[in-house]
Amino acid sequence: MSATTNSDTAPARTVVTRFAPSPTGFLHLGGARTALFNLLYARHHGGTFRLRIEDTDRARSTEPAIRAILNGMRWLGLDWDGDEIYQFARADRHAAVAHQMIEHGHAYRCYMTQAEIDAMRAEAQAAKKPLRIRSPWREHSGRTDGPADQPFVVRLKAPTEGAVTINDQVQGAVTVQNAELDDMVLLRSDGTPTYMLAVVVDDHDMGVTHVIRGDDHLNNAFRQLPIYRAMDAIEGGWPDPVYAHIPLIHGADGAKLSKRHGAVGIEAYRDELGILPEALDNYLLRLGWGHGDDEIIARDDAIRWFDLSGVGKSPSRFDLKKLENLNGHYIRAADDARLAGLVADKLDLAPGDPGRAKLETAMPALKPRAANVNELADGAAFLFAQRPLAVDEAAAPLLAGDAPALLARLHAALDALHNWDTESAEAAVRQVAEDAGVKLGQVAQPLRVALTGRKTSPGIFDVLVLLGRDESLARIADHTPANGA
Ligand code: GLU
Repeated sequence: MSATTNSDTAPARTVVTRFAPSPTGFLHLGGARTALFNLLYARHHGGTFRLRIEDTDRARSTEPAIRAILNGMRWLGLDWDGDEIYQFARADRHAAVAHQMIEHGHAYRCYMTQAEIDAMRAEAQAAKKPLRIRSPWREHSGRTDGPADQPFVVRLKAPTEGAVTINDQVQGAVTVQNAELDDMVLLRSDGTPTYMLAVVVDDHDMGVTHVIRGDDHLNNAFRQLPIYRAMDAIEGGWPDPVYAHIPLIHGADGAKLSKRHGAVGIEAYRDELGILPEALDNYLLRLGWGHGDDEIIARDDAIRWFDLSGVGKSPSRFDLKKLENLNGHYIRAADDARLAGLVADKLDLAPGDPGRAKLETAMPALKPRAANVNELADGAAFLFAQRPLAVDEAAAPLLAGDAPALLARLHAALDALHNWDTESAEAAVRQVAEDAGVKLGQVAQPLRVALTGRKTSPGIFDVLVLLGRDESLARIADHTPANGA
């Protein structure tokens, strides 16, 4: 048996990567990044990117979780090739491999009772050693002469001597002594496969050449390799995969990312934080992988540039501010109709609602000021507000003092306009300021509050045009002395 993974010497195979989530919860940031790296690596090499749902844990796997994963991946544009594979459906195949391994002396039926295992554990504890099961049935491998009618598990007859070195593409060379590994269970006493066995059989059958996953699985690689090697010895065609174990994502405080750092599930970024998928992709890509100083990296460039040597070894910290900055960039770059659709959905506008067209017209004025879809929706609120407008507490003082008189002059000047466009509106407003002997801001601010109820809004001349003549004049009139303002 070779001591190191043979990835360096094996003939080049067409790259096949996979993402293999367990559907026990939503698609989280770490999973999405793993999927993205697998996709980019495959696309970069003209290979294939597969999806496998690891639903063997029947108690914890749920339909809604599967849907959330598939939808999350589609939303992020992490398009996998072919149909997704469901691991549980392949249990017979996994068991068949275990039986092949028994036949050829690489695995054995172990009839140890719970009491015997407990005794072994007590002995290990007394000797202050970890429990590593080497069953007395180990030497019976290949034979079927166990006690009839007794339950048994199938264990790997793991190598006991020597060491295995994995040339991990991210972690570098990592060595584990075989003496540190035990004869792990491949099939439980009810005949169901364990996770360790299922992963290897599926990866082999799916032709996976590169296993790129979180570094919480690095230890598993040492337990999974003996299965490859046993099957390669038995029938050939089970080369070691190339491994790349990527560091997990941490929160700003340096601890592993978890719920207490805020949203971990992908859909919260879409639904609650108003993040665009291309922004999240770009952010996740940069989180743990770099290409010089480039921050904004489109998918095509990511495919062109992605390699495993650019993946950092230390965990990266999630930074919501950075994500929002990137998101602002992608919002400014995004198509107006698409953004209008997202905002309309957020505002519950029915399909066909004229508000949708209004939003699209307003989008060029709205998007420079927004870092997410929520801010776009919030910035668009003035378009749909009903008279008399609710005025923000902070904005109300701007309607006091001289404001009503200035608004009355603005009303007259604007009412006299022939053309209702930004240039004419600007000229009229400037003229009013000049005639009143005040700075432009002193008229523009009360005007803004009268039109939007707020201290901040898109450019005031854009607002006038977006609202239209009648609505603008009516909103201004609500605050002139004639109307009791
Ligand atoms: N199903 C495992 C998980 O969700 C991944 C297994 C693998 O990538 O090998 O963590």
